[in-house]
Amino acid sequence: MSPKKIVLRFGPDISDMPIIYRLVKDYNLMVNIVKANVNPQKEGTMVLELTGEEYDQGLDYLRNAGVSVQALTQEIVRDEEKCTMCGACTAICPTGALHIERPLMEVHFNLDNCVVCQLCVKACPMRAMEVRL
Ligand code: SF4
Ligand code: SF4
Repeated sequence: MSPKKIVLRFGPDISDMPIIYRLVKDYNLMVNIVKANVNPQKEGTMVLELTGEEYDQGLDYLRNAGVSVQALTQEIVRDEEKCTMCGACTAICPTGALHIERPLMEVHFNLDNCVVCQLCVKACPMRAMEVRL
């Protein structure tokens, strides 16, 4: 069985719950944490790879606990020609995937840290950030 990649988003009430432990212990899932980020408000985003027979039951557990679960079938790309390096996206990117590099003050995009939350797509005035299926 090949691993399935999902994105979790959760609020501060969830960030102290042992959700990964429960996926492993109660649903016999093999869990690979690809990316994880919790902001100062204790809101979290996580990308997981899950393998196991009880995948659907594990997802039901997460949803019932109040976690938003989305299959990761998309990725974000930046149209370099449209980007004006205005920096607006760096203020809302929860993982630092979009960040300002000093001293040149260029906006860099690190795809490895992107959790496809799509906040930058809405925030970019130039429509430079795009969702690819
Ligand atoms: S979708 Fe945009 S805002 Fe969200 S993590 Fe990726 S780069 Fe950052
Ligand atoms: S908000 Fe858009 S134009 Fe501004 S730096 Fe980010 S991607 Fe570039």
